[in-house]
Amino acid sequence: MADPISTPLKDARARLKEATELLGCDPGMYAVLSNAARELTVSIPLRRDDDSVEVLTGYRVQHSVARGPAKGGLRYSPHVNLDEVRALAMWMTWKCALLDVPYGGAKGGVTIDPRAHSERELERVTRRYTSAIMPIIGPETDIPAPDVGTNEQTMAWMMDTYSMNKGYSIPAVVTGKPISIGGSLGRATSTSEGVVHVALAALRDNGLDPAKSTAAVQGFGKVGRGAAQFAFEAGLKVVGISDEFGGLFNPNGIDIAKLGEHVDKTGSVVGFKGAEPIDGHDLLEMDVDLLIPAAVEGVIHEQNAPRIKAKLIVEGANGPTTPAADKILEARGCVIVPDILANAGGVIVSYFEWVQGNQAYWWGKDEVESKLEERMLGAWAKVHDFAKSKKLSLRGAATVLAVQRVVEAHEIRGLYP
Ligand code: NAD
Repeated sequence: MADPISTPLKDARARLKEATELLGCDPGMYAVLSNAARELTVSIPLRRDDDSVEVLTGYRVQHSVARGPAKGGLRYSPHVNLDEVRALAMWMTWKCALLDVPYGGAKGGVTIDPRAHSERELERVTRRYTSAIMPIIGPETDIPAPDVGTNEQTMAWMMDTYSMNKGYSIPAVVTGKPISIGGSLGRATSTSEGVVHVALAALRDNGLDPAKSTAAVQGFGKVGRGAAQFAFEAGLKVVGISDEFGGLFNPNGIDIAKLGEHVDKTGSVVGFKGAEPIDGHDLLEMDVDLLIPAAVEGVIHEQNAPRIKAKLIVEGANGPTTPAADKILEARGCVIVPDILANAGGVIVSYFEWVQGNQAYWWGKDEVESKLEERMLGAWAKVHDFAKSKKLSLRGAATVLAVQRVVEAHEIRGLYP
């Protein structure tokens, strides 16, 4: 059970408050930054395959556009609600600022269980949602990307709907598209690759040899699966993996490629023969060097934090650790690389995809990957050094650096009117 008083939005605001106080900001600046610049709630009537009509709710929240167009993913989940979308949009603002990509933060969501709908229904939902939020998205205003429950196909439908309504193809309206319609090489694996670049640097900087280290990964979706694969390729022994249906443990290491084949066939890690089944919750408490939560927010909380044994937590997911858990883990010497740094690889390559789309000039995979690595390691070094010099946690340092950039943009632009 998560902390009773913790919600993603409360957590996001609490961290913003600490950062603005550390920066000595005027309370008015906190008030501006703790609220979203623009929010849109839409009804999505869906004709189901059996001809019945269901009405879903969708959101698009633009937290800040002070540093450039809003940027952020689109989530399909039954748990989506406006406050969660607000928190995720705020985190995107900090992430883009920290990595110095010229965007503000946004997030979208539809309250839907994608597994309970056919592909044709999902296409209708996506096209209707895109039409409903069309007035506020565009390559110069707000650029969606995939998140939990959405994928390249979702982005293709969004791009097509937007383009059909405008009368010509506009690939730069979304990122995370299929390569055939203007996606970037390296985008699909970019978040996971970035997570592992930072995890390797953090292991080494904390005196741990990756080749002798063990890891556990929560979530086997777009982020977790790639993170497990890249960690395995870097020589780590991935001993635990879980998804929403259950977990796996193998002290000798799990064969990630084989597990991938099993998941492609069955839709879950459960039933994989190359490891022992475990309760999904136990995965977070495994005795490993590196823990990568790459599923959903709020999974590391006040109740389970005292039992977490990992030396290093690298947040593949957004908001997996509550502030109360942060304090408990920090007191025990556990190093946490925060989401706004650790999972920023996706938005970095989204930025590259947008740049390529705007210029209609495509880069090679090596160029994308080397630029990604350079940006991730540069940001890691900056946050690590700043944390050390100011005696802050990595999360505190990353948030302060990010908020400082956004505050500067607000101050130099001035308060309109
Ligand atoms: P996804 O839908 O592709 O995969 C999610 C995975 O998490 C699935 O394997 C699912 O079974 C599992 N899961 C869900 N609830 C769980 C639970 N309670 N316990 C264990 N496993 C659970 O989503 P994704 O795109 O991989 O996103 C995962 C996280 O990473 C989210 O927090 C998302 O916001 C964040 N993120 C994603 C990207 C991206 O590029 N996709 C970029 C930055 C951050």
